[in-house]
Amino acid sequence: CGIFAYLNFCVPKKRKEILDKLIKGLQRLEYRGYDSAGIGVDGGNDIEKSEQSTILIKKRGKVINLQEEIQGREDLNFDIEFDTHLGIAHTRWATHGVPNNVNSHPQRSDANNEFVVVHNGIITNYKDIKKFLVGKGFEFESDTDTEVIAKLVKYMYDTRENANISFRELVEGTVQQLEGAFAVVFKSTKFPGQAVASRRGSPLLIGIASKSKLSTDHIPILYSKGNNQDALNNADSTSSFQPANGDGQVEYFFASDASAIIEHTNRVIFMEDDDVAAVTDGCLSLHRIRRSVDESSARQVQTLQ
Ligand code: GLU
Repeated sequence: CGIFAYLNFCVPKKRKEILDKLIKGLQRLEYRGYDSAGIGVDGGNDIEKSEQSTILIKKRGKVINLQEEIQGREDLNFDIEFDTHLGIAHTRWATHGVPNNVNSHPQRSDANNEFVVVHNGIITNYKDIKKFLVGKGFEFESDTDTEVIAKLVKYMYDTRENANISFRELVEGTVQQLEGAFAVVFKSTKFPGQAVASRRGSPLLIGIASKSKLSTDHIPILYSKGNNQDALNNADSTSSFQPANGDGQVEYFFASDASAIIEHTNRVIFMEDDDVAAVTDGCLSLHRIRRSVDESSARQVQTLQ
């Protein structure tokens, strides 16, 4: 079971390069165990419209099976170039639901793939959440525990009271409902070019690749409104993290293990339990959904040796 995600911001990449990176990332994680694999990337061949759709390609078996499946997709133009794009990928080690294409990740909110998620771990209260969502009219297609996560975030979006709610806030609201262990990365057609990730009990780290100097190595933790830590909320534009010279070019990687990131960058942040990481407009911010007593107020960008 492994997660790998890649976000290029203002770094033009062909679809082929993006897919190759995702596949390679998954191959590096294969040693963790797998029975199926899948990816979620922007769809279509019209660059103006591609971010309005997400395509999922999922395949039982080894990563090579997925790779062949992708290569066989004649409907996809592999040469179109994305200035900014998020791709998420997963190798699965089934805990709930047999290994098959539908149970593979990414799991999705609905037939339009509005919200998709890759997940490592086990959601122990998924039955309760599923019951709730079925009561709200959601129809489930897989036997995984993970599918509740994709559908719950869509439910939060559909019933939001604040029209300007951010992707990060939606994910915070979602993961606060989850019990068990998880590392998750979300992608949404409602928030193109944005990635939101969180973890509790399962590993997840962030890799940062930027030609320009980074604005800081010390990323403050932002406390989200609504968790009784408003007084500590120091959110402002200087609290996020971005390349310093203003060209904005940056690439982010999310992975279960440093071995999938090291060939791209040695600058990493290890996420801690209950951290939520969000990339918006190329800036990374780190948040927490709970505050523990003696935690540090920042995450350090570390250099892998
Ligand atoms: N529990 C999830 C599933 O069975 C995720 C398993 C994993 O970590 O790969 O689909």
